[in-house]
Amino acid sequence: MCGIIGYVGPGRASQVITDGLKRLEYRGYDSVGIAVRTGKGILDVRKDKGMVEEVSSALRFTTIDGNLGLGHTRWATHGAVCRENAHPHADCSGKIILAHNGVIENYKKIRDDLAAKGHKFASDTDSEVISHLFEENAKTQPLLKAFMRTIGQLEGSYAIVALSASDNEDRLLLARKNSPLVIGVGKGEMLCASDIPAMLKYTKTFVPLQEGDIAVVTRMGYKVYLHDGSEAIRKQITVDWNLDLAQKGGYPHFMLKEIMDQTHFVNESLATDVSEAKRLIEKYDRIDIIAAGTSYHAALMFAYLLQRTGKGAQAFVASDYPFIAKPDEKTLVIGISQSGETADVLQAFRYAKKSRKIALVNTMGSTITTLSDCVVYLNAGPEVGVAATKTFTSTLAVIFKIIYGKQSLAGVSRLIEAMLAQENEIRKLAQLLALKENAFFLGRGLNFPMAYEASHKFKEITYIHSEAYPGGELKHGALSLVCEGFPVIVLAPKDDSLQKLFGNIKEVKARGGVIYSVTDDKEVMAESAFHLDIPEGTDPILYPIALIVPLHLLAYHTSVLRGINPDRPRNLAKTVTVE
Ligand code: GLU
Repeated sequence: MCGIIGYVGPGRASQVITDGLKRLEYRGYDSVGIAVRTGKGILDVRKDKGMVEEVSSALRFTTIDGNLGLGHTRWATHGAVCRENAHPHADCSGKIILAHNGVIENYKKIRDDLAAKGHKFASDTDSEVISHLFEENAKTQPLLKAFMRTIGQLEGSYAIVALSASDNEDRLLLARKNSPLVIGVGKGEMLCASDIPAMLKYTKTFVPLQEGDIAVVTRMGYKVYLHDGSEAIRKQITVDWNLDLAQKGGYPHFMLKEIMDQTHFVNESLATDVSEAKRLIEKYDRIDIIAAGTSYHAALMFAYLLQRTGKGAQAFVASDYPFIAKPDEKTLVIGISQSGETADVLQAFRYAKKSRKIALVNTMGSTITTLSDCVVYLNAGPEVGVAATKTFTSTLAVIFKIIYGKQSLAGVSRLIEAMLAQENEIRKLAQLLALKENAFFLGRGLNFPMAYEASHKFKEITYIHSEAYPGGELKHGALSLVCEGFPVIVLAPKDDSLQKLFGNIKEVKARGGVIYSVTDDKEVMAESAFHLDIPEGTDPILYPIALIVPLHLLAYHTSVLRGINPDRPRNLAKTVTVE
């Protein structure tokens, strides 16, 4: 969570940082701040709670002069959302300043020790102890050494960007552990940020830092060190993403753009190389699939499909994996993470020490790629909306390619187009749902993971309470909630589960519930108060995609109708780097 950006070069740091913060905002958006060195020994620090746009213009971030600086958007873990707790955080002297992403687990002890030495703290955050500890260490040793020592004393997770106003050089000091941090290599200028899209305007060449790395970034270059102070060589990567992909391109929200982009990106996803993954899957009988949030629903689908081939496959919520599973040499572990930085998935991967691992991931150079024996890229392009949409569809496409082979998926882009062409109908359905307080999503068999995902997205961005059930489960409990006018959205393609689902539709209607459907079946249409149509002749293996694409768009329009910004649902953030 949280976004960090740093800049050093001939340009106006405040401009680059403010611009980068806007692109990073999806990672955390309760408060925002900037610090720029405006002269030797002088820092200009401005911060407050609120969104980047409002805070940066109220505090006039871009009026700050200077060529070295850093910024932060926060997703609070320790301490309330208020100005004092917003980053960056200074030391007692006000000369050292830093931004932190993650959680410092031993912060209490450090804070008590430093308080006993006379340090005064201005915030309740865990992060502020780092700047004071750095100050303390810098009293007795040169800056870089002091920084390294400070990092060695921290426990927990961190991406840190720091600078000292009294430094003789213009330089940024970086460290990362369990939180992403990438160096951007420009021409005569250098950047660093939590992710690549924040820097695309300035460069296409990047150096993702690895676990435990410490780095020094100056205008002309960078040096990476290991914790013992020895120098390390890190690979540069070049990405072909262009800036348009990380911008709204005329759409009111990233989420809408990303949903519409799917017709194109799904083909890129299908082009990905799955041969090694396929080979490994064939070799193993026990396969554990680990994911969190939206990706968990893709994991469920993957497990269902593998189970149908006779494999012992199971999907796990990543954060619970270590409490349940005992992966060994005979287990193949597959992790799904759009960002490749999801802390819950990474800890589950580390837990599965003895097992071979495959990662399905969208972000090049991300941490999960360094923990895996085989990496399958989703090729979905950058996703900025907090609610994952195109990366979910891409994950499905990649899973289907592994299971069915690419030839069977030729019609997928056309199918997505046909489902998106029903946007007006989808908007009408959104109008019907926007005033409701509850909703159920029902699906059986392979359609259940899609119902789960549709419900998850719906509640996440509309704040309407919703739940997903396998159709058969309704009568075992949740049916007691169904009353006059209660909306039930059924995922009802013409597959082998439809006949039974039809029974559930009747049960709902008998109790006054209202049926809305996504279907290609005439009888279901006749039972529905409103239906979205799957084109006739759709290949059944593509049904999951036909179902989820319009239901993502339904969540989007319902959210907008309720006056919510679907790109920034409350309390959430993308790239969940805390456990
Ligand atoms: N733990 C820090 C805080 O609560 C950093 C949170 C973040 O990663 O945004 O301020």
